[in-house]
Amino acid sequence: AHLDRIAAVEPAVHAFLHVSGEEALATARDVDARRAAGEQLHTLAGVPIAVKDIIVTKGLPTTAGSKILENWVPPYDATLVERIKAAGLPILGKTNMDEFAMGSSTEHSAFGNTHNPWDLDRIPGGSGGGSAAAVAAFEAPLAIGTDTGGSIRQPAAVTGTVGVKPTYGGVSRYGLIALASSLDQAGPVTRTVLDSALLHELIGGHDPRDSTSIDEPLPALVAAARQGLTGDLTGVRVGVVTELTGEGYQPGVSARFAESLEVLRGAGAEIVEVSCPHFTYALGAYYLILPSEASSNLAKFDGMRFGLRVEPTEGPVTAERVMGATRGAGFGDEVKRRIILGTYALSAGYYDAYYGSAQKVRTLIQRDFDAAFTQADVLVSPTAPTTAFKLGEKLDDPLAMYLNDVATIPANLAGVPGLSVPNGLSDDGLPVGFQVLAPAKADDRLYRVGAALE
Ligand code: GLN
Repeated sequence: AHLDRIAAVEPAVHAFLHVSGEEALATARDVDARRAAGEQLHTLAGVPIAVKDIIVTKGLPTTAGSKILENWVPPYDATLVERIKAAGLPILGKTNMDEFAMGSSTEHSAFGNTHNPWDLDRIPGGSGGGSAAAVAAFEAPLAIGTDTGGSIRQPAAVTGTVGVKPTYGGVSRYGLIALASSLDQAGPVTRTVLDSALLHELIGGHDPRDSTSIDEPLPALVAAARQGLTGDLTGVRVGVVTELTGEGYQPGVSARFAESLEVLRGAGAEIVEVSCPHFTYALGAYYLILPSEASSNLAKFDGMRFGLRVEPTEGPVTAERVMGATRGAGFGDEVKRRIILGTYALSAGYYDAYYGSAQKVRTLIQRDFDAAFTQADVLVSPTAPTTAFKLGEKLDDPLAMYLNDVATIPANLAGVPGLSVPNGLSDDGLPVGFQVLAPAKADDRLYRVGAALE
C-alpha cells in the first residue's frame, strides 16, 4: 500500500531520491512468513520506513543530496540501519535533503526540491524535508532524519509531523555522513509521539563503533509516551524560554503556542518563565562551529576515494587539480559557502577570534541550560518562527534562511534532546510545531510531555 501511495504522489511531492520497492517487498514477505511460523518479532517488524539519504545503506545509493556522491553505493550499513533491518522493518527508500544537510528548505538538494504536502508551492523544511514530507504525505509511516541544527524538528513542525533529536550520543553516528560531528544526531520522524518512542528505542543505545556513544541504557521512552497519553502531568515543571518567544515569531505561531501552554496547565503542569540569556548568540556561534567542522569533514571528497571524479580539461593531471575540478563541479553553492566560512574561521590568526569565541559561547549556552533545568523539568518554545514559506522565497538570502533555526540550534550546541509535536494550524492554514527540550539523557521527559499534547 505504501509503494502504491509513493507511485501516486511522488510526481507531486518528490520526497524520495531512491525507492527500493523490491527489497522492501522481500522484507515484508519474509516478516509475514516468520510471523506465520510463530516467531516472536519486534513490535515494528513489517512496518515500512524511509531513511534520509545522508545515512549509509549497504547496496542502496547514498548521495547526501550531492552530485559529488551521485551513484555511490556504500559497502556497509550504518548501525541504526543494521538495527532497523534486524527488527524486520522494510526500507522503502532514501529521502531527499539539502546537500550534506545544509539548509532549512530542502531547496539545496542537487536533485530537485521536495514539496510540502500541505501546499505544494511551499517548502517542507530542511534539511530533512524528504523524510518529513514522506510521513506527512502518507508515503511512509516512519522515517529517519538527522538533526545538526534542527533538521528533524523544523521539517516536522512545518509538515505537521513529530520529530525527535535524541540526546547527543543517544543514537549511534556510525554510518552517518558527518556534517558537524559534535552536533549531529539521527532520530525519528513519525505521525505520533508513541511511534517516535518505539523507533527511538529501536535505533538508540550504545554502539562501540561510535566513540561518543553513551554507554548506558536508554531511559524508558515508550513507557513515558504511554504515561503522557493519559493526559496527566501533575507536578511537571514546564519552563517557557523568554528568549525563544515573542518578537520574530509569526502571530499564528505564538497564538498556538500560548494555547498549548494552557493545555499543559490543564493537565496539571506548573508553567514557569525561565531566561537563557546566551541563546541570543546561539545562531552566531553555530554558524562558526558548523562550517568549521563541515569544512574539515568534507575534505574527504577529493575525487579519489568516493563518488565523482572530474579530470581537469587542460593542463597536467595532478592530485590537486583533480581535487579542484571535482569539488568545483560536485559541490553546490551553499556547500561551497560553508567550506569557505569554515576554513576562514579556522585559519591561523583568526582561530581564536572566531572558532575560539564560538566555543566559549557554546559553553555559556550549556550553562544556561544547566541553570534553566534547576527551575524546570522541560523547556518549551515554538519549534520554528514561521510556518512553511514559499519555494524560492529565501533562496537568495542565506541569512533569512539561517534565521529559521533560532529555536532549534541551542539544543544541538548543548547536546540536549528536543522534540517537535504538531501544534495545530496557524492563521494561514499551515502546521505549527511545539518544541519540548529536556536535560541530556532525560529523553523520556520529551515523550511524556509531547504525548500529553497530542
Ligand atoms: N538549517 C540548519 C543548517 O542549515 C540545519 C542543519 C541540520 O540540522 N542538518 O545548518
